[in-house]
Order: sequence, then structure tokens, then C-alpha cells
Amino acid sequence: MIEIQTAKGSIDPRALGRVLIHEHVFCMDMEYTLNYRPDFVEAEKVAEAAAKLNALKALGIDTIIDLTVLGLGRHVPRIAKVAERTGINIIVATGCYTFDEVPKPLAQIGPGRMFDVPDPLPELFVRDITAGIAGTKVKAGALKCAIDAPGLKAGVERVMRAVGRANRRTGAPISVHTSARHGTGLVAQRVLAEEGVDLRDVIIGHSGDTTDIDYLMEIADQGSILGMDRFGMSAMLSLEDRVATIVALVKRGYLDRLALSHDCFCWSDFFPSEAARQGFLPEHSYLYVSQTVVPALLEAGLTQVQVDTMLIDNPRRHFEDAARRFAARPAS
Ligand SMILES: [Zn+2]
Repeated sequence: MIEIQTAKGSIDPRALGRVLIHEHVFCMDMEYTLNYRPDFVEAEKVAEAAAKLNALKALGIDTIIDLTVLGLGRHVPRIAKVAERTGINIIVATGCYTFDEVPKPLAQIGPGRMFDVPDPLPELFVRDITAGIAGTKVKAGALKCAIDAPGLKAGVERVMRAVGRANRRTGAPISVHTSARHGTGLVAQRVLAEEGVDLRDVIIGHSGDTTDIDYLMEIADQGSILGMDRFGMSAMLSLEDRVATIVALVKRGYLDRLALSHDCFCWSDFFPSEAARQGFLPEHSYLYVSQTVVPALLEAGLTQVQVDTMLIDNPRRHFEDAARRFAARPAS
């Protein structure tokens, strides 16, 4: 039997319902917040986050994947508090978000380094998936790494290969933060494939930031899901372009390789204030896919069944098939 791990325990894949595949509850530089953001009062922010997620649940979204990993202020005990106060499933992730170096505490541990031992990263990720995170009972349900404009920097590659190895040892699916405009989704696919990852286990995140259909088809043809996951970030690409790209991909037969999300958060210190955030990204809200994007996709000619394939079937398959493939693999 396949179980999906959430911040409230394991659930049946059928309970995933409508899924937003790339979101955050809190996103912060923890040290900065502790020093310079007195407005972050945990009890208040937990209550506010639960209220925002409950509003999302009321619009028919059942699950979010919270891709807040090391480097983005992950603190799972706080997520567990939010999860207790909302009916939405929160799947938490393990991995590391970096565009260049690994986090400083890990820089000198590993092969050929000051502490010359096997790379501890895969083991940290595997433990988060199999034993639980930071003393909680919460287990990670997904893996995450990143590769942005700087490309395959040493720390980026180290994390990516560790994520690939953790996928091979656990069957947990992978999401990658990529820069579509720099074509880094293809680099991530190459490195993960070198680690033996089945690319059908992978969501290439932020694919929706481009209208380059050839690039997107090249990724999808290798089996990965395209994360059309920054709806509401219209300063990067307009709603119209994001919708037209999805329609074009569906016409070419890629419906089963598409998933939707906002890359939103309930609170983040990346913006000096909530007002500043709304000034910069006025449409970026947790409610945007349900209230604006789905109607726009229907208006553009997709059917409700096709929209449900992107919101329900594809995310479920992402988890279920990765687990099935892992269970079917001969022990190595
Ligand atoms: Zn994100």
C-alpha cells in the first residue's frame, strides 16, 4: 500500500485531491528574521497561515507541497502547528536550496574536505524521509534541489547528486527549482539521470516561466512533469502567456506532463512588508489559481477534465508511480 507523508501523518494517495505542487508556508532567512523582523511573532503567523490555507481549502484545493528546504528557512515543528489548524494537507520536503555553495556547516564535511568522510547530505535527506525531521514525527514526502542562472556550480551539483541518491534509496519524488530562461531544467535532468534517477520521478519547477515550447517539450519528452508553478508572478510572465503555453502543450499531447501552482507563501521576509509584496506582485496570492487561472484555462478552450488532470491526476501519479517504481525495483 502506498502512503503519502504529510505534516499530519501519512495519507492515502486518493486523499491528495487537488494539489498545488510548489508552494511555501513560511519562506525566510531565519537569521535575518530573528535579528531584523520583530513583526514575525510565531503564534500570530501560525494563525494567519492556517487562515490563509483554510481559505484555499474552501476553494477546493486539498493539498500543497511545501518546498521550503534548507536555505529557505525550513522549520518543521512550526509547519506541524499550522497543519494542526488547517484541513489542507501539507507535504513537506527535504533537500537544499542553493544557487552556488552548500550551507556553511556542510562545506568542510565530505570527501577530500577538512573532515574527509563520505558526503553526509544523502544520509540527512534519507533520514528526513524515513525517520522524521528535527525530532518531530513529520516525514518528508519529497526531495528538492535548485539550479538557477549560475548553472551547475560545485555546491549545486553536490546537492543535486545527493538528492538523486536519496531518491534512489527511498523512492521519494523530486522537485527542482530551475531557471527556464537559462535552460537549467535540462542540466538538472542530465545530472539526476547520471545518478540513476528515473526522470518520471521529477518535476522540473518554474518551467512555466518561459514560452519556449521546444525547451519544454524536450524536458517533457524525458518523462518529467513541467511545473507551471508561478501563476501570479506576472512581472516575470503574464497570465496570458502562461495560459497560452499550457494550451499549446496540451494541443501537442502533453496534458499528462503539466501541474499547476503559485510558488506563494503565507509569510516571507523576502519582502520588507506585506504592502511592499502586494505592490510588487499584486496578483501573487494563494487563491489565484482557483479564482483566476482555472477560469482562464477554461476560457482558452481546456475542459474541466483537463484542468483536473493537471490539478489531481498528475500530482497523484507523481507520488504513486515513484513509490511503485521504487517498490518494484530489485534490491541493490
Ligand atoms: Zn519556491
